[in-house]
Amino acid sequence: MARKTKKASPYLYVAIGLIAVAVILLVTILVLSVTEYGEPGESSVPVSVGSPIPSEPNESQTPSVQTSSEPPVSVAESSDESEASSQPVSVEPPVSNAGDLSEQPETAKAYEQTVGKAYSIDMNPYEQYVCPADPMEYVFLVDASHTLAADFEPADLVYIKDMKPGRPDYYSKMRAVAEKALEAFLEEGRMYGIDDVLVSNGYRSYGSQANLFNSYIAEERAAHPDETDEQIEARVLVYSLRPGTSEHQSGLCVDMHNQKSTDLSFAGTEAAKWLEANCYRFGFILRYPEDKEDITTVMFEPWHFRFVGREAATEMHELGMCLEEYCDYKGIR
Ligand SMILES: [Zn+2]
Repeated sequence: MARKTKKASPYLYVAIGLIAVAVILLVTILVLSVTEYGEPGESSVPVSVGSPIPSEPNESQTPSVQTSSEPPVSVAESSDESEASSQPVSVEPPVSNAGDLSEQPETAKAYEQTVGKAYSIDMNPYEQYVCPADPMEYVFLVDASHTLAADFEPADLVYIKDMKPGRPDYYSKMRAVAEKALEAFLEEGRMYGIDDVLVSNGYRSYGSQANLFNSYIAEERAAHPDETDEQIEARVLVYSLRPGTSEHQSGLCVDMHNQKSTDLSFAGTEAAKWLEANCYRFGFILRYPEDKEDITTVMFEPWHFRFVGREAATEMHELGMCLEEYCDYKGIR
């Protein structure tokens, strides 16, 4: 029994030391949050933050984008605009560990302070994916002028965790880095009650896109037997894309929603509003916004989210730019 009292004092000194360090850290964090918190201006875009864990070895995955002289895809006006503004936004704040930043990695903490919005989930498992070491690695266009080769297939495709049951296997994958970021995105959504959003389409191969496109051509041909090939193709290009021009072949985007199928009425839902408002925090962008149809040349798609990485997504969010505008802004073409 006497031994125990002898050993008590060194522990006491250690405890006092730890408390002192904790107090100093707390004061530092408080000072930092007072000076950096708040709505960011255009110049306060978070600087790329080196990830604490080595990033995915997928440098070789950047597709070789081929520039062609194909004309832009024609666009149809959204037919469902009225519903988009009919529902008020009333998202409840999460009841979890919001505000407890002590467990977050440095990059997440710095980011939260910059954008003035704390994560509700633990970002530790996701930070290296949401915030890639090379912040511009995933910033590139895939469209009618920036096509992917017929044999391009990302080598790091993985199954999507939040996939809609019953979807074909070949629509159920995406690139590993984007898949992990998507997991974080939807996990955060569940903290806000957005708990029924599932992915209906992920990666789509050149061949799958060709089959899809050709099936639409056949349908339009049957419905309009007197029209020329050009007229038939123009009809299909309103809602589908030629193989090699679909972003889905990049493996970096998904269609996700809580409807039976991709439908513009999704735009009016709480889920769609939350996804659009928060996607940038997880490195995603709403790729074809309603107010950018003339620039993207693709119809408004409230369900189509593309991974670009958090730094680029946040900058686009703050500048109000779609990917075409951002690539011009950054000189990426
Ligand atoms: Zn899509």
